[in-house]
Amino acid sequence: MYLGGIYDIACYQVHPLKFVQGLAKAAERRGTQIFCFSPVTAIDRERTGYQVRGSGFVSHANEVILATNGYVPSFAHWVRSQLWSVASRVVVTAPQTGLLPEKMPTVSDSSTEYHYFRLMEHGRLLFGGRPPILPKIARMFPQMVQVPTEFEWEGRVAISWDGLPHFGRAPGGYWFAAGYTGHGIVLSTALGQLIAEAISGKPLEKSLANTLGPSNMKRRPFSRRWRAFR
Ligand SMILES: Cc1cc2nc3c(=O)[nH]c(=O)nc-3n(C[C@H](O)[C@H](O)[C@H](O)COP(=O)(O)OP(=O)(O)OC[C@H]3O[C@@H](n4cnc5c(N)ncnc54)[C@H](O)[C@@H]3O)c2cc1C
Repeated sequence: MYLGGIYDIACYQVHPLKFVQGLAKAAERRGTQIFCFSPVTAIDRERTGYQVRGSGFVSHANEVILATNGYVPSFAHWVRSQLWSVASRVVVTAPQTGLLPEKMPTVSDSSTEYHYFRLMEHGRLLFGGRPPILPKIARMFPQMVQVPTEFEWEGRVAISWDGLPHFGRAPGGYWFAAGYTGHGIVLSTALGQLIAEAISGKPLEKSLANTLGPSNMKRRPFSRRWRAFR
């Protein structure tokens, strides 16, 4: 499967659900109100700030951040047109012994399908990437074919045309951050901080603004990336 690899001691694993619950608690401690199951259907400019509408609610805000990554709503035409939303899936097998080494580092590869895998407790194999996953496990770990899948989950991620995350003001004036290309746990948190700093008036480093800004999001229809994802 691989010609080579890098053992990166600076990399680490996180439990994403615990991480997002921790972020939510930290935000609530600072006075943030979180409203789940309240999809926004329109963001309109007002004389000062924005009006945000959804089913049964209207809200007013000085600034709005659209942070929907692979789920950009249809009203945000421009942001939506700059990204590609694809499925990403994780499979966890039943416990096993003797089929895989007892210790295995977490692996994340650089293919356009973003495979990653690690051993969990009791020898369970966690394997993620673009679906379908089972043929990939069969190719990489043929000895695991008979081991049933016990858990699986899927969501959508946004792929950008240059592989980099992007943020800035969309043509509607509101902020957006998206396009983490499958690596959003750290990157979305980092861009959240950058947007918060920008909103509070901190000037953005020029090279960062140029590389990750909206003007650098152009589609490149005949790029290698486009062909790989078709
Ligand atoms: C199966 C899977 C495995 C992954 N594995 C990894 C990994 O190993 N490492 C890694 O770094 N990244 C991984 N990712 C990617 C990572 O989860 C995302 O990049 C990250 O969650 C992006 O964060 P976000 O907050 O920008 O968007 P999301 O976490 O996608 O959140 C977007 C939110 O917007 C909400 N929303 C959508 N439309 C509206 C609307 N109209 N109004 C209001 N709210 C709306 C959604 O309900 C959702 O809560 C994985 C993703 C999946 C699906």
